[in-house]
Amino acid sequence: MMRPLVIGNWKMHGSQASVESLLRELARPGEQLPADVVVCPSFVHLQQAIGLCEGSPVEVGAQDCSAQDSGARTGDVSAAMLADLGCRWVIVGHSERRQYHAEGDELIAAKITAAISAGLNVVVCVGETRAEREAGDAHAVVAGQVRGALAGQASLGGIAVAYEPIWAIGTGLTATPDQAQQMHAFIRAQLPGQKGVETNRVPLLYGGSVKPDNAAALFGQPDIDGALVGGASLDAGDFRHIIMAA
Ligand code: 13P
Repeated sequence: MMRPLVIGNWKMHGSQASVESLLRELARPGEQLPADVVVCPSFVHLQQAIGLCEGSPVEVGAQDCSAQDSGARTGDVSAAMLADLGCRWVIVGHSERRQYHAEGDELIAAKITAAISAGLNVVVCVGETRAEREAGDAHAVVAGQVRGALAGQASLGGIAVAYEPIWAIGTGLTATPDQAQQMHAFIRAQLPGQKGVETNRVPLLYGGSVKPDNAAALFGQPDIDGALVGGASLDAGDFRHIIMAA
């Protein structure tokens, strides 16, 4: 079995004070945790978070990066800048980026390439809307997103995929463990082969209202290798509980 991976996506939340108090509780020097743990604060809190996680098992990631290495891209942050700062991970293609920043599969694929060449690990997010699920299109949508993001990559090394059904994000509606497992097995079958790693070694994370009381059932599924946690990762006690369930 692969070591579980639990990532906290803090989205556009936090202040220097809250980052400090959260990570003082979460990132304990020398502690051994049952999962690889990553927190993804906003860009402006990355440096502070990296400092607070030093010596602890918690790593720090960003929530997005540019597809460009450098240049005239006002407001953008390159993967190389993130790596230089000490980030180890970046989230790419989150549904909120797809929705509010009109990001499509081609741009997402280019961001993954940029991140991998900067030496970052990537978590690429996929997932269907409620309307797509109700129309029976969930599998086709997710397959298209997986292919769009990954088909052109030279290797799947350093890449994790997060299945985040949009109807479950921030709604308190979680996919049932069966629904999530079913989609994860489907995603694994969609992963391109011959890409440097066995497809059963690519971490598949579930995201969408993961909470302390549903984490263990989700982690118990054979194709759920971890979680991408939004709201519950902003509470040190809740996030720790989820980590311990892994
Ligand atoms: P919630 O856990 O708040 O539903 O958010 C999920 C998510 O979007 C993580 O990236």
